[in-house]
Amino acid sequence: MTPLTSLCVYCGSAFGSNPRHQEAARRLGQLMAARHVTLVYGGGRVGLMGTLADAVAGGGGTVVGIIPRHLEQKEVGHRGLAELHVVDSMHSRKAMMFDRSDAFAILPGGLGTLDEAFEMLTWRQLRLHDKPVILIDIDGYWQPLLTLIDHVIEQGFATATSRRLFTVVSEVDEVLDCIAREPLPAVPDAPALI
Ligand code: AMP
Repeated sequence: MTPLTSLCVYCGSAFGSNPRHQEAARRLGQLMAARHVTLVYGGGRVGLMGTLADAVAGGGGTVVGIIPRHLEQKEVGHRGLAELHVVDSMHSRKAMMFDRSDAFAILPGGLGTLDEAFEMLTWRQLRLHDKPVILIDIDGYWQPLLTLIDHVIEQGFATATSRRLFTVVSEVDEVLDCIAREPLPAVPDAPALI
């Protein structure tokens, strides 16, 4: 089994209305730093993204940020990172985040977070990769999404195996152990996806 060295975390560029989400982002960052797991993320300083990156860097961990040029101002490209890659498009950002990561975790977030999460799930469904995807359901934030996925399955637009594309945890403390229990691919698939 290959040990986890880098984790891509998708999360909101806002804080959301529940303060537990920011606490969760901070705690996950601290745990990653303590376990020497590199953070790969969208490179911004705003919202949960900024909290998470600051917590990893503050704990002595390594952070790799990847931000498209047109969002550098809006999401305030984080200058205190081990690596900040400014790329030419959202597509390049998502491809590089994928390439640099052994696994994916999804904290609460908005439409951007959903888009990124679903891309990893659909690529896994298409067998373009077999990296673990962990949905972090703080205070039931993702329950409506899980209900929607069940509905999609029930209505015959996906099979029950879709629920096996990701694992749901309710606390950030479970994330790294949960990934450790899932065998990571020995040679991560990194085909030219987009
Ligand atoms: P949000 O969850 O909407 O706050 O966005 C979180 C992150 O997703 C931010 O870094 C956004 O730049 C990014 N994002 C927003 N829209 C998209 C999109 N259509 N595709 C990929 N990433 C996006």
